[in-house]
Amino acid sequence: MGNVYEIYALRYATMARTPQMNFLAPDPHETKAQDLDYFVWLVRGHGRNILVDTGFNAEEAGVRGRKLTLNPVDALAGFGVKAEDIKDIIVTHLHYDHAGNLDRFPNATYHLQDREMAYATGRCMCNGMLRHPFTVEHVTQMVRHVYGERVTFHNGEGEIAPGVTVHRVGGHSDGLQVVKVETERGPVVLASDATHYYANLHRRSPFPIVYNIGDMAEGWRIVERLAGHPDRFIPGHDPIVCEIYPRASDKVDAFALHKTPSRSFAK
Ligand SMILES: [Zn+2]
Ligand SMILES: [Zn+2]
Repeated sequence: MGNVYEIYALRYATMARTPQMNFLAPDPHETKAQDLDYFVWLVRGHGRNILVDTGFNAEEAGVRGRKLTLNPVDALAGFGVKAEDIKDIIVTHLHYDHAGNLDRFPNATYHLQDREMAYATGRCMCNGMLRHPFTVEHVTQMVRHVYGERVTFHNGEGEIAPGVTVHRVGGHSDGLQVVKVETERGPVVLASDATHYYANLHRRSPFPIVYNIGDMAEGWRIVERLAGHPDRFIPGHDPIVCEIYPRASDKVDAFALHKTPSRSFAK
């Protein structure tokens, strides 16, 4: 086979939630707990270790009242990958839970959408609600990486390696990008926060953090088109991912997304 990769979801934190918190227009009858998991994703193959997002650290978890299981850098180490060995990091967007730890990867180039940097440093950040998911220290660190010539900007679509591409969808954050990875079971799309849960996309019902609902709705179509099959996109925060994909480590919470899931969403 040509350029196929392995993909691992590394879970590093969790948060107890109810469905009322996870949909812009929740179903009032739905009361069963719906927790939120936090992940970074590791793409491996052809001598490359490409990291998708960098998570947050213990200090950030304390400020935000989240439960950090372990720092994503330590999760990676437990999985056998040193931070120094990461050469490419795709930052799907600059929210606190995707763009912390930016000082922990000394040899990495960061891949970011033009519009995400513009959004995170522009006029919308004067609004508390839009600003809330961002952490100024993370954004500032990314600005430092720009000045250090360690950022590769993408505008819309971009190739990170043969078989690994990024695609801007916006919506949740103006420069949100998803990642398409060729695997043994076909292209798999890491949708990040284009859909927090499977249900956000299935019901066409946005997660409440949203910059542009029209773009978000179009983003769901883009994710479906890129994936080409309902079992080949991975939501950004859904605990179901850990139930249906095979565990890939006895040391850390790692799940093999290039393998066939135990449950199918195909109709
Ligand atoms: Zn986000
Ligand atoms: Zn997120």
